[in-house]
Amino acid sequence: MTQLVSTRDSSATSLSYSDVLLSGLAPDRGLYTPVELPRLTLEELKELSALSYPDLYVRLKSLIVGTDMPTQVYVDIANDSFNETSFPGVESGNYVPVVQLASGQYLQNLSLGPTAAFKDMALQPLAREMDYVLRERGQKLRLLGATSGDTGSAAEAAIKGLGNLQLFMLSPHEGMSEFQRAQMGSLSGDNIHNISITGRFDDCQDLVKEIKLDPEFADLGAVNSINWGRISSQVPYYVSGYLQVVGDSVGQEIDVVVPTGNFGNILAGYFAKMMGVPIRRLIVATNENNVLHRLIQTGRYELQPAVVTSSPSMDISKASNYERLLYYLAGKDPTGVRAYMETFEKQGVVSLSDIGLSNDALKDAGFESGTSNHMSRIETIRSTYQQFGELIDPHTADGVYVAGHCRQEGVPILSMATALPVKFEDTIREAIGDIPPREERFVHLVAGGDGFEVMKPDSDILKRYIQKHTNL
Ligand SMILES: *Cc1c(COP(=O)(O)O)cnc(C)c1O
Repeated sequence: MTQLVSTRDSSATSLSYSDVLLSGLAPDRGLYTPVELPRLTLEELKELSALSYPDLYVRLKSLIVGTDMPTQVYVDIANDSFNETSFPGVESGNYVPVVQLASGQYLQNLSLGPTAAFKDMALQPLAREMDYVLRERGQKLRLLGATSGDTGSAAEAAIKGLGNLQLFMLSPHEGMSEFQRAQMGSLSGDNIHNISITGRFDDCQDLVKEIKLDPEFADLGAVNSINWGRISSQVPYYVSGYLQVVGDSVGQEIDVVVPTGNFGNILAGYFAKMMGVPIRRLIVATNENNVLHRLIQTGRYELQPAVVTSSPSMDISKASNYERLLYYLAGKDPTGVRAYMETFEKQGVVSLSDIGLSNDALKDAGFESGTSNHMSRIETIRSTYQQFGELIDPHTADGVYVAGHCRQEGVPILSMATALPVKFEDTIREAIGDIPPREERFVHLVAGGDGFEVMKPDSDILKRYIQKHTNL
């Protein structure tokens, strides 16, 4: 079984997958992460290409997690999560299809799920895994999260109706697209509480942190990508993407570009690479909030107040999951990670040399990066549509733009498409002069303030609200 430890715990106390699933940060504020991952040979990798996505999911999850859950549970969860009702756009059973844009240039669509963002790929199974563990233990769990858009609706669509879970989701009053707002609003009710904070996304995140310091609320679980359950569920689509790009040439190296915010999606790519998938470079694409781009290029990790952009799900001031990568780069040294992260938390800036690494350590580990801005996104959406007939969303455009700059002759490059363009109609109109047609399932969504409790960024008010509405 994969041993899970906190990135900051020098006693290396190991927790079970189920325990980690239900908790957020470790008590020492580190992130739970596996000490080792299983390795796949090229032969084994080749055999995986015969599997459907749900079967691939089950195989990899059981490999990564081990026997903590019976395999049948993964089978049931995969069937409940990945089917044609939840993923109506799926053709020929391919839930994560790769299309070729040009010679050596590929795009993988991860957004065919219920809320049209890649977060469905992990949150659909995550909510069901949580529900299963709670049922087994006779427990219930309240969850608290913050979203700038996509996490909110993906978590809500997954958790809605699961009786052992109750979700309180904070979102900024301004900043989400109309579609995202309408989508979340439509999911309110039952065990889903949408709280609109009159502030920015950072205010929402600060509230989550503050509330969890109160012992009375310390048991609240997390749905963001600090949850290992989410990251581990994202590994399968990297394996599938790789196999679709290389076809019969398993063993050939490819580059992968990922539009990145909290470093959750691309970290799953790193784990796929650790497991033996021949990914040569993992390329981080940021928007104007380019904390990670600067880290990779200079070795300095520096907090930067987030600005609102037209790829809002990547508007971050720091990238939580980077701590997990650091744990491996620093030779699994929790004492070093703790000191480094505490320096960052105190001073807002830290260098790779502070933990004894070269400033190129991320590049040496196979990372590369690029950054974009509003105009490059607009231009990329327009040109990708005109040249290849593919309409991409602004986050995907950040990636495709960076892919154009980082491409190297002879190495196929795969860009991850992380949301459908329908979620960002205003930006699409600016790029191509028209909005994308809405699929039948999204036609009913209309913007309005419905479904949200509007609240000042005040932790006492929020605590009272949560207490009053807890009904588990
Ligand atoms: C969440 C999100 C991202 C960023 O993913 P991370 O795991 O935070 O790096 C990128 N694109 C879209 C559309 C998203 O919803």
